[in-house]
Amino acid sequence: MIICHDVHKHFGGFHAVDGVSLEIPAGKITGLIGPNGAGKSTLFNVIAGLYPPTSGRVTMGGEDITGLPPHELFAKGLLRTFQIAREFSSMSVLENLMMVPGNQIGESLWSTWTNRSGIAREEERLRAKAEDVLEFLTLTHLRDERAGTMSGGQKKLLELGRTMMVDARAVFLDEVGAGVNRTLLKTIGDAIVRLNKERGYTFCVVEHDMDFIARLCDSVIVMAEGKVLARGAPAEIIRNEQVIEAYLGT
Ligand code: ADP
Ligand code: MG
Repeated sequence: MIICHDVHKHFGGFHAVDGVSLEIPAGKITGLIGPNGAGKSTLFNVIAGLYPPTSGRVTMGGEDITGLPPHELFAKGLLRTFQIAREFSSMSVLENLMMVPGNQIGESLWSTWTNRSGIAREEERLRAKAEDVLEFLTLTHLRDERAGTMSGGQKKLLELGRTMMVDARAVFLDEVGAGVNRTLLKTIGDAIVRLNKERGYTFCVVEHDMDFIARLCDSVIVMAEGKVLARGAPAEIIRNEQVIEAYLGT
């Protein structure tokens, strides 16, 4: 679905991503692993439109999406998880979900004057959808809490929930499990698997926890020093000597 063709991203003379070609297949969960500084986040930022690549191309379903800004990729259903920004911390968990979809009727001043019942209906629809998302993520009990008071892991779940408020197709998760306790990590993993199986989401997941990767991923891509070092099934990857060496080398 998403293919990188010889992607480079240089910062000055430093080659953070150094000629990466890879494919993220539709409907699968692909893991992206590698030692710190391997270029994983930089590659995500190139794919998700945060950085233009120095050279190379990214395509989605055959269409060239190289360098498109995040909001255009968002409209195509390609998203990186949204951080819960400070300005959203004071809103409730439910409101955080209701904020996500763009182009709501109520956003136009004109429609506020002409279409009040339309706005009420749209808000009702969004609220119902947000309630469903909370239930899916087992967060219903936090519905009216301020998002800022959630634990790190719960915020990660809420980030995942925000992708469910739009029609996502491909979701990029960068270290979604970092600093998250075991129980919540399992909940996050379950949510990813269900979104993949039940809604057909394509995932690419950067994560250091190899148990998490092995449980979730159909295949794993290993990066080191800006390049793709190996790819294969999780069980092969953990036995790959080059991969073991790359990890021990850091
Ligand atoms: P990973 O996510 O695999 O740990 P990153 O993609 O974050 O690795 O970083 C790869 C390398 O690129 C690191 O050495 C990092 O210091 C460097 N790097 C990342 N972003 C920038 C930037 N904006 N400017 C300069 N160097 C950067
Ligand atoms: Mg990173």
